[in-house]
Amino acid sequence: VRDLVVSLDTFFSQINRVEPYLQPSFVPESGEYTASNESMENLLTGMNCIMCGCCVSDCTVLEVDANFIGPAALAKAWRFTEDPRDSKRDERLKNLNDEDGGMWDCTRCMKCVEVCPKGVAPMDRIMELREAAIEAGNTNTSGYHHTESFYNSVKKHGRLDETRLAIDSAGWTNIPRLLDLAPIGIAAMRKGKLPPVFPHKAEDNKKVKDLYERVEDAD
Ligand code: SF4
Ligand code: SF4
Repeated sequence: VRDLVVSLDTFFSQINRVEPYLQPSFVPESGEYTASNESMENLLTGMNCIMCGCCVSDCTVLEVDANFIGPAALAKAWRFTEDPRDSKRDERLKNLNDEDGGMWDCTRCMKCVEVCPKGVAPMDRIMELREAAIEAGNTNTSGYHHTESFYNSVKKHGRLDETRLAIDSAGWTNIPRLLDLAPIGIAAMRKGKLPPVFPHKAEDNKKVKDLYERVEDAD
Protein backbone atom coordinates (compact mmCIF):
# COMPACT_ATOMS: atom_id res chain seq x y z
CA VAL A 1 0.00 0.00 0.00
CA ARG A 2 2.07 2.96 -1.21
CA ASP A 3 -0.24 5.77 -2.17
CA LEU A 4 -2.81 5.61 0.57
CA VAL A 5 -3.32 7.88 3.56
CA VAL A 6 -5.80 6.77 6.22
CA SER A 7 -6.79 8.35 9.50
CA LEU A 8 -5.06 6.57 12.39
CA ASP A 9 -6.47 8.88 15.07
CA THR A 10 -8.19 6.13 16.99
CA PHE A 11 -6.53 3.09 15.45
CA PHE A 12 -4.00 2.31 18.19
CA SER A 13 -6.34 3.12 21.07
CA GLN A 14 -8.77 0.55 19.61
CA ILE A 15 -5.97 -2.01 19.30
CA ASN A 16 -4.97 -1.39 22.93
CA ARG A 17 -8.53 -2.10 24.08
CA VAL A 18 -8.12 -5.80 23.22
CA GLU A 19 -4.83 -6.29 25.15
CA PRO A 20 -2.90 -7.25 22.00
CA TYR A 21 -0.26 -9.42 23.61
CA LEU A 22 0.09 -13.04 24.62
CA GLN A 23 -0.89 -13.81 28.23
CA PRO A 24 0.38 -17.35 28.90
CA SER A 25 -0.26 -19.13 32.17
CA PHE A 26 3.40 -20.11 32.45
CA VAL A 27 6.74 -19.29 30.84
CA PRO A 28 9.23 -22.08 30.07
CA GLU A 29 12.34 -21.98 32.21
CA SER A 30 14.51 -21.97 29.13
CA GLY A 31 13.98 -21.59 25.42
CA GLU A 32 10.96 -20.33 23.55
CA TYR A 33 7.34 -21.20 24.26
CA THR A 34 6.48 -22.65 20.87
CA ALA A 35 3.09 -23.63 19.47
CA SER A 36 2.37 -26.41 17.00
CA ASN A 37 2.77 -25.72 13.28
CA GLU A 38 -0.93 -26.44 12.81
CA SER A 39 -2.03 -23.78 15.29
CA MET A 40 0.41 -21.24 13.87
CA GLU A 41 -0.94 -21.88 10.37
CA ASN A 42 -4.42 -21.14 11.69
CA LEU A 43 -3.16 -17.83 13.11
CA LEU A 44 -1.53 -16.74 9.86
CA THR A 45 -4.68 -15.04 8.55
CA GLY A 46 -4.75 -12.65 11.50
CA MET A 47 -0.98 -12.30 11.76
CA ASN A 48 -0.82 -11.03 8.17
CA CYS A 49 -2.24 -7.70 9.35
CA ILE A 50 0.20 -4.85 8.59
CA MET A 51 -1.77 -2.31 10.66
CA CYS A 52 -2.42 -0.16 7.61
CA GLY A 53 -5.76 1.06 8.99
CA CYS A 54 -7.68 0.66 5.69
CA CYS A 55 -10.41 -1.46 7.30
CA VAL A 56 -10.87 1.02 10.15
CA SER A 57 -10.99 3.92 7.75
CA ASP A 58 -13.76 2.31 5.69
CA CYS A 59 -15.80 0.60 8.43
CA THR A 60 -19.41 1.74 8.11
CA VAL A 61 -20.13 1.27 11.84
CA LEU A 62 -17.15 3.37 12.93
CA GLU A 63 -18.50 6.15 10.75
CA VAL A 64 -21.48 6.49 13.08
CA ASP A 65 -20.23 4.94 16.34
CA ALA A 66 -16.74 5.87 17.54
CA ASN A 67 -17.09 3.42 20.44
CA PHE A 68 -17.00 0.36 18.16
CA ILE A 69 -13.74 -1.54 18.71
CA GLY A 70 -13.43 -1.88 14.96
CA PRO A 71 -12.33 -4.53 12.47
CA ALA A 72 -8.54 -4.39 12.92
CA ALA A 73 -8.69 -4.62 16.72
CA LEU A 74 -11.26 -7.42 16.62
CA ALA A 75 -9.13 -9.35 14.12
CA LYS A 76 -6.20 -8.82 16.51
CA ALA A 77 -8.31 -10.09 19.41
CA TRP A 78 -9.24 -13.17 17.35
CA ARG A 79 -5.52 -13.88 16.88
CA PHE A 80 -5.06 -14.18 20.66
CA THR A 81 -8.25 -16.15 21.33
CA GLU A 82 -7.00 -18.72 18.79
CA ASP A 83 -3.47 -18.95 20.19
CA PRO A 84 -3.19 -22.15 22.29
CA ARG A 85 -0.54 -20.48 24.49
CA ASP A 86 -2.87 -17.72 25.66
CA SER A 87 -4.57 -18.35 29.01
CA LYS A 88 -7.17 -15.57 28.77
CA ARG A 89 -9.33 -16.96 25.96
CA ASP A 90 -12.60 -17.18 27.93
CA GLU A 91 -12.06 -13.81 29.55
CA ARG A 92 -11.29 -12.17 26.20
CA LEU A 93 -14.40 -13.69 24.62
CA LYS A 94 -16.59 -12.62 27.51
CA ASN A 95 -15.28 -9.04 27.43
CA LEU A 96 -15.68 -8.71 23.67
CA ASN A 97 -19.18 -10.20 23.99
CA ASP A 98 -20.36 -7.99 26.87
CA GLU A 99 -18.59 -4.77 26.00
CA ASP A 100 -20.44 -1.84 24.39
CA GLY A 101 -18.95 -1.54 20.92
CA GLY A 102 -17.81 -5.18 20.99
CA MET A 103 -18.14 -8.06 18.55
CA TRP A 104 -21.93 -7.78 18.14
CA ASP A 105 -21.86 -4.24 16.77
CA CYS A 106 -20.49 -5.28 13.36
CA THR A 107 -23.24 -5.08 10.72
CA ARG A 108 -21.47 -7.43 8.29
CA CYS A 109 -21.24 -4.85 5.54
CA MET A 110 -18.11 -6.55 4.12
CA LYS A 111 -16.24 -3.26 3.63
CA CYS A 112 -13.26 -4.35 5.75
CA VAL A 113 -12.97 -7.57 3.72
CA GLU A 114 -13.01 -5.64 0.45
CA VAL A 115 -10.32 -3.13 1.40
CA CYS A 116 -7.88 -5.27 3.41
CA PRO A 117 -4.73 -5.65 1.27
CA LYS A 118 -3.51 -8.70 3.23
CA GLY A 119 -6.50 -11.03 3.16
CA VAL A 120 -7.11 -10.78 6.90
CA ALA A 121 -10.87 -10.62 6.22
CA PRO A 122 -11.65 -8.97 9.58
CA MET A 123 -15.39 -9.57 9.26
CA ASP A 124 -14.82 -13.32 8.99
CA ARG A 125 -12.64 -13.18 12.08
CA ILE A 126 -15.44 -11.29 13.92
CA MET A 127 -17.95 -14.00 12.93
CA GLU A 128 -15.56 -16.62 14.32
CA LEU A 129 -15.29 -14.63 17.53
CA ARG A 130 -19.09 -14.66 17.80
CA GLU A 131 -19.26 -18.41 17.28
CA ALA A 132 -16.53 -18.96 19.86
CA ALA A 133 -18.26 -16.65 22.34
CA ILE A 134 -21.56 -18.53 21.96
CA GLU A 135 -19.81 -21.90 22.29
CA ALA A 136 -18.20 -20.59 25.49
CA GLY A 137 -21.69 -19.95 26.89
CA ASN A 138 -22.08 -16.22 26.28
CA THR A 139 -25.74 -16.05 25.31
CA ASN A 140 -26.79 -12.86 27.08
CA THR A 141 -26.68 -10.43 24.15
CA SER A 142 -29.35 -9.18 21.77
CA GLY A 143 -26.92 -10.22 19.03
CA TYR A 144 -27.17 -13.83 20.16
CA HIS A 145 -30.96 -13.65 20.54
CA HIS A 146 -31.19 -12.16 17.05
CA THR A 147 -29.14 -15.02 15.60
CA GLU A 148 -31.14 -17.66 17.46
CA SER A 149 -34.49 -16.15 16.46
CA PHE A 150 -33.44 -15.91 12.80
CA TYR A 151 -32.34 -19.56 12.85
CA ASN A 152 -35.51 -20.87 14.51
CA SER A 153 -37.87 -18.77 12.43
CA VAL A 154 -36.51 -19.87 9.05
CA LYS A 155 -36.36 -23.46 10.27
CA LYS A 156 -40.00 -23.41 11.37
CA HIS A 157 -41.66 -21.32 8.66
CA GLY A 158 -39.27 -21.48 5.73
CA ARG A 159 -39.06 -17.69 5.92
CA LEU A 160 -38.23 -14.98 8.39
CA ASP A 161 -40.73 -13.92 11.06
CA GLU A 162 -39.68 -10.27 11.23
CA THR A 163 -42.02 -9.29 14.07
CA ARG A 164 -40.75 -12.06 16.30
CA LEU A 165 -37.15 -11.33 15.29
CA ALA A 166 -37.45 -7.74 16.52
CA ILE A 167 -39.02 -8.77 19.85
CA ASP A 168 -36.68 -11.72 20.44
CA SER A 169 -33.66 -9.51 19.73
CA ALA A 170 -34.82 -6.84 22.15
CA GLY A 171 -35.81 -9.38 24.80
CA TRP A 172 -39.44 -10.06 25.80
CA THR A 173 -38.97 -8.50 29.23
CA ASN A 174 -36.79 -5.60 28.13
CA ILE A 175 -39.53 -2.97 28.36
CA PRO A 176 -37.33 0.11 27.61
CA ARG A 177 -35.97 -1.50 24.44
CA LEU A 178 -39.46 -2.64 23.37
CA LEU A 179 -40.75 0.91 23.89
CA ASP A 180 -37.88 2.13 21.68
CA LEU A 181 -39.18 -0.15 18.94
CA ALA A 182 -42.76 1.11 19.19
CA PRO A 183 -42.29 4.27 17.04
CA ILE A 184 -40.61 2.16 14.35
CA GLY A 185 -43.59 -0.23 14.41
CA ILE A 186 -46.08 2.64 14.20
CA ALA A 187 -44.19 4.25 11.30
CA ALA A 188 -44.08 0.90 9.49
CA MET A 189 -47.82 0.42 10.06
CA ARG A 190 -48.60 3.88 8.63
CA LYS A 191 -46.65 3.04 5.49
CA GLY A 192 -48.30 -0.38 5.22
CA LYS A 193 -44.94 -2.07 5.84
CA LEU A 194 -45.65 -3.76 9.18
CA PRO A 195 -44.77 -7.45 8.95
CA PRO A 196 -47.68 -9.83 9.68
CA VAL A 197 -48.15 -10.68 13.37
CA PHE A 198 -48.65 -14.34 12.43
CA PRO A 199 -45.95 -15.14 9.87
CA HIS A 200 -46.80 -16.61 6.49
CA LYS A 201 -45.34 -20.02 6.00
CA ALA A 202 -43.44 -20.78 2.83
CA GLU A 203 -45.63 -22.84 0.49
CA ASP A 204 -43.05 -25.57 0.37
CA ASN A 205 -40.32 -25.32 2.95
CA LYS A 206 -39.22 -28.92 2.64
CA LYS A 207 -36.00 -27.87 0.91
CA VAL A 208 -35.24 -25.48 3.76
CA LYS A 209 -35.90 -28.19 6.34
CA ASP A 210 -33.70 -30.62 4.37
CA LEU A 211 -30.91 -28.05 4.37
CA TYR A 212 -31.21 -27.59 8.13
CA GLU A 213 -31.13 -31.34 8.66
CA ARG A 214 -28.01 -31.73 6.54
CA VAL A 215 -26.19 -28.93 8.33
CA GLU A 216 -27.26 -30.15 11.78
CA ASP A 217 -26.25 -33.74 10.94
CA ALA A 218 -22.85 -32.53 9.73
CA ASP A 219 -22.22 -30.75 13.06
S1 SF4 B 1 -18.06 -5.93 8.24
FE1 SF4 B 1 -18.26 -5.12 10.32
S2 SF4 B 1 -16.19 -4.57 10.94
FE2 SF4 B 1 -16.16 -4.86 8.73
S3 SF4 B 1 -16.45 -2.82 7.89
FE3 SF4 B 1 -18.48 -3.74 8.03
S4 SF4 B 1 -19.28 -3.16 10.04
FE4 SF4 B 1 -17.07 -2.71 10.04
S1 SF4 C 1 -6.87 -6.03 8.94
FE1 SF4 C 1 -6.16 -5.60 6.84
S2 SF4 C 1 -6.98 -3.58 6.36
FE2 SF4 C 1 -7.14 -3.84 8.58
S3 SF4 C 1 -5.28 -2.93 9.41
FE3 SF4 C 1 -4.84 -5.09 9.11
S4 SF4 C 1 -3.97 -5.26 7.06
FE4 SF4 C 1 -4.93 -3.25 7.19
